[in-house]
Amino acid sequence: MRFATRALRVAQEPDKQYQAVINPIYQSSTFAWDNLDTIPKIDYTRCQNPNRQTLEQVIAALENGNHCTVFGSGMAAVTAVFSLLQAGDHIAMASDIYGGTHRLCTTVLPRQGITMTEFDASKPETLDQAVNSNTKMVIFESPTNPNLRIMDIRKIVERAKAHGLWVAFDNTFASPALQNPLDLGADLVIHSTTKYLGGHSDVVGGAVVTKDQELGNAMFEWIKNTGAIPSPFDCWLTLRGVKTLECRMRTHCANAQAVAEFLEAHPKISKVHYPGLKSNPEHALATAQMTGFGGMVSCEVAGPATNARAVAESLKVFLLAESLGGVESLVGYPPLMSHAGMTEDQRVERGIPPTMLRLSIGLEDPTDLIEDLEQALATI
Ligand SMILES: *Cc1c(COP(=O)(O)O)cnc(C)c1O
Repeated sequence: MRFATRALRVAQEPDKQYQAVINPIYQSSTFAWDNLDTIPKIDYTRCQNPNRQTLEQVIAALENGNHCTVFGSGMAAVTAVFSLLQAGDHIAMASDIYGGTHRLCTTVLPRQGITMTEFDASKPETLDQAVNSNTKMVIFESPTNPNLRIMDIRKIVERAKAHGLWVAFDNTFASPALQNPLDLGADLVIHSTTKYLGGHSDVVGGAVVTKDQELGNAMFEWIKNTGAIPSPFDCWLTLRGVKTLECRMRTHCANAQAVAEFLEAHPKISKVHYPGLKSNPEHALATAQMTGFGGMVSCEVAGPATNARAVAESLKVFLLAESLGGVESLVGYPPLMSHAGMTEDQRVERGIPPTMLRLSIGLEDPTDLIEDLEQALATI
């Protein structure tokens, strides 16, 4: 089955009791045993639940993995991946990474004796300097947040494998509709299903997918032992989103391309970050690595930071809010939102100036989005 069909038909037969096309929400903490010699297929919802199992099978199929575990949030999924490490181990982490992952690595993991060194994933050779004899894992993303840089997944995997590292890749920004990192050699793919997989800004969740049975078992053991589970309803809701992922992503990409081209031509915008623009230095790499350029665009507003803030606050169709990947367009201001955990110096070092806005392009008519940006830019 092809991607769009897998999203709709993997593990989604009508229910046995009533032939309901959409399976019910199994809102039950426990499942009855026939007798003490017959353990039910699923016995307790912390360990497994029918709605969770279905979602896991579908996401595994979309990432070309053999095993998926879903979690109560994207950060719970990142934490599960780090649970493979022990005190004394070391992580090589891309410096251009999701703020929450950076915070976890700098605040929680050091207390557990796990250390981290950053490297510049846009220069895969810098990984070599970040690795020491205790390094067990490399973690990175592409496209990155909020700069939308494209990292060469194959090249980083190749370097990491030469050092014998596990490769963890956060595929939240692209979604499995645009790239499948397991096929490029990653060992573990992480998702915040809160974003494109759920797609409707109504649920928080995470997932880890792998081709490796042992790593898959480790993720299952972690969730069973620590209880970082999503509810049956959240799994059901996320699956409802996943069904339309492919067709949503096509529109996200087309709308983002239109918005990025509009912004690039606007005199009050000094820089646009979108891998779909021909002028983008990583356009060729993105074309080779992805089947589309995604729904995220960031830009720098000319003039002082007060201009960027004024534009963010003047937008009417775009909602001023954290998060991304939903059907409605959002504008984010990284210094006060996604990257508030960093100091001004750390942000500037990472190419996140206070003049930057991050746009999550939704499924509205792109003309309305462009007109909204036009009116907001006219206020400065
Ligand atoms: C949002 C996000 C996360 C964290 O996910 P939550 O569901 O908010 O816990 C991790 N990585 C990336 C790239 C994200 O965008």
